[in-house]
Amino acid sequence: MNSDEIITWLREDNPQKLAEFYARADLVRRENIGDAVHLRGLVEFSNYCQRHCTYCGIRRDNHALPRYRLTRAEVLECAQLATQLNYGTIVLQSGEDFSVSAEWWAETIKAIKDATPLAITLSLGERDENEFALWKKSGAHRYLLRFETSNKTLYQKIHPPRGGKISDRLLSLKILRDLGYEIGSGVMVGVPEQTYADAVNDLTLMREMDFDMIGIGPYLSHPQTPLTQQPPKLSPEQILPTGENTCKMLALARILCPRSNIPSTTALATLLPNGRERGLQCGANILMPNLTPAHYRKLYEIYPEKEALDAHKTATTINDWLKNISRFVGVGAGNSPRFDNNNK
Ligand code: SAH
Repeated sequence: MNSDEIITWLREDNPQKLAEFYARADLVRRENIGDAVHLRGLVEFSNYCQRHCTYCGIRRDNHALPRYRLTRAEVLECAQLATQLNYGTIVLQSGEDFSVSAEWWAETIKAIKDATPLAITLSLGERDENEFALWKKSGAHRYLLRFETSNKTLYQKIHPPRGGKISDRLLSLKILRDLGYEIGSGVMVGVPEQTYADAVNDLTLMREMDFDMIGIGPYLSHPQTPLTQQPPKLSPEQILPTGENTCKMLALARILCPRSNIPSTTALATLLPNGRERGLQCGANILMPNLTPAHYRKLYEIYPEKEALDAHKTATTINDWLKNISRFVGVGAGNSPRFDNNNK
């Protein structure tokens, strides 16, 4: 599929044609990945963040937000719960919390490895190569780091550098891949000043990088952020953060990257009443139920009214629900077929 075709689909608004397009993406998913939906238990480790991303509610300067950080014992409890629920993977996500040392994480990763059979995914933001290397050696398997937008000018604007150090997430992702991680990345759809042309570039970059995992969710406005408080003027070429546009991006990502693991994101479920199902039916094959202890969950407020899929729903409940859309819970770690194939 070339750029012209991609943009034509992004601009399509005929419901019948879109339904056929989503069915096509769903078929690509089925032929390349199958009907299993792997569950990744998400642990929102800390909402401390040293960054000033203009879209994100946990940015450093949001002083209205009480901050929290889990203890190692709490992380291990989450890992035990993920194991009891038969999940194959735990995802440890966090604000960029540099007061937690690389060594602390290394010990924690080892402790999870010792106590459970889980695959470990990290999503801790931009850290140094030696830290990524240490965590790999300690037993981490995967790293999630969204590039957020392929438009470099827009990226620098919404994701200001830290301490004068230029932020190059694509370089970090290449380093992570060379270290042997499965790598995941992705974008928000409809960030102010993101155009249709940017969205096409986002998708072609995903294909070029051949990511193992691709996360795509709508941009959701958070009241305590510069993007909401001082919104920029939008051009007619602005792609809007709608559920439909997110589904189009998901379907296109599936067609362009047939073997990637693609979650149906919490952001889509927050925006659309049936967003989780919609995502799974237009290309996605992963769900990330939330394992974060309930009293912290509301504080990991990257955007408001987060519609987390509660992990305490048992696997049976999720399985029953998946049956309605002819899918089932996958067993095992659920590596990306791309990764397994390249590492035979
Ligand atoms: N600190 C980590 C984790 C960030 S939260 C990191 O920077 O990688 C995970 C993702 O949530 C981000 O990559 C971003 O794409 C998304 N996100 C943040 N704020 C958002 C918002 N307001 N609306 C939608 N998605 C958002």
